[in-house]
Amino acid sequence: MSSSTYCGRLAPSPTGLLHLGHARTFWVAAQRARQAGGILLLRSDDLDAVRFRLDFVDAMLEDLRWLGLTWQEPMVAQSARRPRYRTALEKLHATGLIFPCARSRRDVIEAASAPHEPHAGGVHDEPVYPEHFRPENHVPLPPLDEKISVNWRFRVPIGETVMFTDGHHGPQSALAGRQFGDFLVWRKDDTPSYQLACAVDDAEMGITEVVRGDDLIRSTFRQILLLRALGAEPPAYYHCRLMLDEHGERLAKRHDALSLRALREQGVTPESVIRKFDSEAKKP
Ligand code: GLU
Repeated sequence: MSSSTYCGRLAPSPTGLLHLGHARTFWVAAQRARQAGGILLLRSDDLDAVRFRLDFVDAMLEDLRWLGLTWQEPMVAQSARRPRYRTALEKLHATGLIFPCARSRRDVIEAASAPHEPHAGGVHDEPVYPEHFRPENHVPLPPLDEKISVNWRFRVPIGETVMFTDGHHGPQSALAGRQFGDFLVWRKDDTPSYQLACAVDDAEMGITEVVRGDDLIRSTFRQILLLRALGAEPPAYYHCRLMLDEHGERLAKRHDALSLRALREQGVTPESVIRKFDSEAKKP
């Protein structure tokens, strides 16, 4: 296979049932891979030990197959890749691009000086980490313990505008230190953060285009910085519009009535779901 072959991925989190919103994003990902004559990989984002459930992995596979999606086996599970994330963390540590942080989330929220911009990064985005919380650049880093019990954050290049061209939304930019700040790469419960795991995987799995929901645009800036720090080329990105419920709220796992499982039980067919996506995609 040539290195220019399109390689996309589906990256569900097995923390609940997949709903119509996930299905649409995955359908777009599958369409783009097909149109490019490429392949699709499946990655299970199963690092969240508290919310992870094995039965959700089975449900997720069944629902994706029901929808008619196919991917190249085997599925990649993030929980099996911890050593790769640890290697990346050590690399960031060696280059001094991370620092340990004993501040709580509450400390950060209370001290965040930049106005929080809920719409730009999504209401679920983390608050901007205040610059004065960072240790001075010249302070030597403590070693990384075998078992990590403190949060480690990535030191963003404050004042730099990070840019990329989104395949769907066009040029995107965000000012580091203002629109997003020093972010978590490793948690004090010894788990890699989503940002680190995702950047490492996208690079190592040879992903050429990431297709995912709009709520992750802000994460893309962080992941681009991580990829650069790790010496990897960022993939292309294509962020899809999120599906909203009748109140204009984004769909979440609590919208059980719109889970693929519930729709299937009501007799909805995968063909009708896809027809709906198809007709929406044709709308201006
Ligand atoms: N697992 C993430 C989610 O379900 C998506 C991650 C990604 O596509 O980068 O929201």
